[in-house]
Amino acid sequence: MHVLICGGAGYIGSHMARFLVARSVSVTTLDNLSTGHREAVQGGELVEADLLDPASIERALGGRRFDAAMHFCARSLVGESVSQPYAYYANNVSGTLNLLEAMRRHGIGKLVFSSTAAVFGQPERERIDEDHPKAPINPYGASKLMVERILADASSAYGLRSVALRYFNAAGASDDACIGESHQPETHLIPNVLRAALGTGPALKVFGDDYPTPDGTCVRDYVHVDDLAQAHQLALDYMDRHDGAHAFNLGNGKGFSVREVIDAAKAATGREIRYEVAPRRPGDPAVLVASSEKARRELGWVPAHTDLAPIIESAWRWHQTQSY
Ligand code: UDP
Repeated sequence: MHVLICGGAGYIGSHMARFLVARSVSVTTLDNLSTGHREAVQGGELVEADLLDPASIERALGGRRFDAAMHFCARSLVGESVSQPYAYYANNVSGTLNLLEAMRRHGIGKLVFSSTAAVFGQPERERIDEDHPKAPINPYGASKLMVERILADASSAYGLRSVALRYFNAAGASDDACIGESHQPETHLIPNVLRAALGTGPALKVFGDDYPTPDGTCVRDYVHVDDLAQAHQLALDYMDRHDGAHAFNLGNGKGFSVREVIDAAKAATGREIRYEVAPRRPGDPAVLVASSEKARRELGWVPAHTDLAPIIESAWRWHQTQSY
């Protein structure tokens, strides 16, 4: 079994590659290293290519045989997508079309696609299942929903088998603290909280404390990156049994507010977290919590990290290894 991992030098993709290599699956990473890290590719070959450059994809696929592809390459910041929508549609939609076209030419008939909770927009119910209306409120979510639609069309037209996995908030680091979450600039909550704890980052800005939530800060569903990797491997097995285009929501089904994350980080690190309340960030819904019953039932997904504490503890072990 040989899997093409597009975006395998990034946060979730690099955990995925290690997860598969540890289970004796061969992987090849395709990455343009724009936000990914060469040192995060720990197993298999790294081929530098850019999804916006079809010739480079061709060079990456030529001469290699793949049984399936996983697609993690994307711009994924909600706020940036609001201020730079063209970049998001170009990268996330046009780049994916280039990949799909190359996959078709090279006979790669299975794809696991990184989608997002942002396809749903403002939640209409407490826990979001797959049938929840899809009404993204930012270009990031809209770009991912467009790809989900393209995958359905690709199934009818070309017989592509696909599974879109809609991550809620990916978090945590590998258990051996070898790889973790590192973006430049860092915008995600848990890394920013831990950098504030380490003193290697500024005081945390809490984006809004006037949301209609119990403590006024946004509530999110944090899911460990290795649990996401497990779901991808199960999705590969699922595509052996099912044709068509499928989608699953991946979260723990429990929401934690920004203040609860700060408190959990205080407990995990034993340090004070300096923070200040700042204005709301554009494009942020108040609450996003998954129902992952479908993934549990149909994929057999059983996340190993179901509480916030072990997720933050794994991220903390990795952050302490970083010099910045
Ligand atoms: N957040 C925050 N301060 C930060 C980063 C994030 O208050 O420095 C909040 C953000 O507004 C959101 C939640 O934390 O409500 C999670 O944000 P993150 O960027 O980690 O993930 P997203 O939900 O955007 O995918």
